[in-house]
Amino acid sequence: MLKLVSRCDLACDHCYVYEHPDQSWRRQPRVMAPATVAAVARRIAEHAAAHRLDVVRVVLHGGEPLLAGAARLDATAATLRRVVGAVARLDLRMQSNGVLLTPAVCEVLVAHDVKVGISLDGDRAANDRHRRHANGASSHRRVLRALSLLRRPAYRTSYAGILCTVDLANDPIRVYEALLAEEPPHVDFLLPHANWDSPPVRPDGVATPYADWLLAVHRRWLADGRPVPIRLLESLLSTASGRGSRSEAVGLAPADLVVVETDGTFEQVDSLKSAFDGAAVTGLDVFRHRVDDAAAHPAIAVRQSGLAGLCATCRGCPVVRHCGGGLYAHRYRAGNGFDNPSVYCRDLLRLARVVTTAPVVGEPPRPADSLSPGVLDDLATGPGTAGSAEQLGAVHLALVRALLVALSERAAGDPVAAEGWRLLVRLDETHPDAVRAVLSHPFVSRWARRCRDGVAELSHLACVAAAAAVRARVRTDLPVPVRDGLVSLPTLGALAACAGRGVVRLAIDDGDLRLGGRRVATEPGRQGAPDGADGPDGWLPVRTVSLDGRRLLLEDTDPYRDCYDLPVEPRLPDAAALRWARRLERAVRRVDAEAADYAAGVRTLLRAVVPLRAEPTGRFRSAAAGTAFGAVAVTAVPDDATLAVLLVHEVQHLKLGAVLDVCDLFDRDDPRTLSVPWRDDPRPVEGVLHGAYAHLAVADVWRRRPGPAAEGHFRRYRAWTGGALDALLDLGVLTAEGERFARGMRATLDGWP
Ligand code: SF4
Ligand code: SF4
Repeated sequence: MLKLVSRCDLACDHCYVYEHPDQSWRRQPRVMAPATVAAVARRIAEHAAAHRLDVVRVVLHGGEPLLAGAARLDATAATLRRVVGAVARLDLRMQSNGVLLTPAVCEVLVAHDVKVGISLDGDRAANDRHRRHANGASSHRRVLRALSLLRRPAYRTSYAGILCTVDLANDPIRVYEALLAEEPPHVDFLLPHANWDSPPVRPDGVATPYADWLLAVHRRWLADGRPVPIRLLESLLSTASGRGSRSEAVGLAPADLVVVETDGTFEQVDSLKSAFDGAAVTGLDVFRHRVDDAAAHPAIAVRQSGLAGLCATCRGCPVVRHCGGGLYAHRYRAGNGFDNPSVYCRDLLRLARVVTTAPVVGEPPRPADSLSPGVLDDLATGPGTAGSAEQLGAVHLALVRALLVALSERAAGDPVAAEGWRLLVRLDETHPDAVRAVLSHPFVSRWARRCRDGVAELSHLACVAAAAAVRARVRTDLPVPVRDGLVSLPTLGALAACAGRGVVRLAIDDGDLRLGGRRVATEPGRQGAPDGADGPDGWLPVRTVSLDGRRLLLEDTDPYRDCYDLPVEPRLPDAAALRWARRLERAVRRVDAEAADYAAGVRTLLRAVVPLRAEPTGRFRSAAAGTAFGAVAVTAVPDDATLAVLLVHEVQHLKLGAVLDVCDLFDRDDPRTLSVPWRDDPRPVEGVLHGAYAHLAVADVWRRRPGPAAEGHFRRYRAWTGGALDALLDLGVLTAEGERFARGMRATLDGWP
């Protein structure tokens, strides 16, 4: 980036060059001297030759580069073309505010093939919010004139696009429409420069306003069929498909940018000027130092080390491959410098999750990882509707997809996982329903989370892909891992292998499996065994409960089902499995009969039930795990009515767990605990909220059952719930959304006779 001019004819109040802590522009020559341009050109050529670069991009920048005038611009471009063009292809660009763009300047741009990007923040009202002259006058009319010049056929080749700085006060759709009206070849959005010491403006009670703003643009852009490349969004999509980012604002690509100031000094990326005075200084210059010396400067080198150069929080983040910690300047905090996530972390997390998991074409009904505004209110009634349950399921699926995309980078280093990933991506295009069914399995989610945390085997990805291939009835073969003598295929069952561990090659053909010389039919009844019975050929099918066309899995085989504090049952004998299946079916039908509104959630969200080992005390136990959405675990119970209540109770935990994955209902850093009547030990806020939500439903079920014993249970659970909600509300730990949710539950309790 060549700072051709260090002054500007505008006085934008959000400008990082003039309006932020670094004021080094005051010490710079106004315009880069011809001798300095020549020295820069020689350094670039030297670097390109030494590294055999095919192409070098040079951006003429400022301040405002057009203040140099057409003649100086002509001479600068000519020098660069002659010197750099001799050793590499020169991609010559300019970033300008456009105010001084004239036909004469356009002639120079076209003559030297300089592509110019123009800064514009939207329509007149949006642009005038910041982009004004020093006397306050609007720059909008002159910028539009510049853009109309660039649209002329004679100059069109020099039109690179528009750069827009986000301002929450501007309507995102009006901004989008105003930018598209200028027919730009590209658009880029920039988050306003901010850091932890100077955080961005955030309206009260809105967790991710910048993501919300950009996602409004994203939805409209998808609905319009992506009429123009938007660099920030395209970069995120590019990372999702395993390619690099096209922007330094996101992604893990090494920084390959160095700035040369008008006096010939090398500086780091100039957005750092928003951090502190002197933040971009390197102490190097083009007269005495090579570009390699600048690249080796510690502050620049650290930005070339990808993941390793990020803070611990970012390194453990599920979207780090997409986000990359955000723009370097936005990580700054006095005290520990840049060893932080971006000050836009929450926004970036949401933006990356939604953009990288949303369908690429067609308008999604809403962002993939967020809930519609009314869902929390609906869930606070106790059961919530089937629509809310479906949204929770969709949100969870989006999170699993994001996890897998994050894992796919590591999968590249594992041949078994890599082959599985490739197959899964292929199937996702050709048989999306089969992939969706497998990714919705509770223990695929748990495995992916454990993989992210480095405590599960990445190669299980091949089993996930193989299960999807069986469901899709495609013909393929791939290596899969063997664990404890079994090849586990999520949602389907497990196949006994000869070895206890290792990797075997599994062939899949029209739903059948071939392992070594053995052919195994996976469909119920095809191998002659009764439905769900262990086959003589080593196939251990997952046992299922049929609920009016929907299959509930009795999970006693999946290796990742051990996520509860209680021991799980090993593979059940056929007869025991049959008893479990019958009891489950009757319990769900009992929920249908006595609490049909809760049945909607149970039937929509519950995908698997894990049998737990009976306690020596004979106490019935049940559990749900936040990492295994869609599964609950229970010990054997003697009657359908008890199991029905346990299922309703645990499905409430699943619902709230899925909400907490995407909504902050309380301050997660608050260490305080509360005493609750249903446990001896004090519980953290999350545990109290979970207890309240589960007991609300249990009270509601008992409320509908007849008899004095039922009434006693109802009163107890209602008192527990009410007490917990009041304590949470008094503690002042809930966010605005959390308080609304708690008050909604309180209103539900108070509304019961
Ligand atoms: S046009 Fe660019 S350089 Fe000039 S004041 Fe505005 S933001 Fe700063
Ligand atoms: S979302 Fe936050 S934690 Fe994750 S990589 Fe980005 S800045 Fe880092």
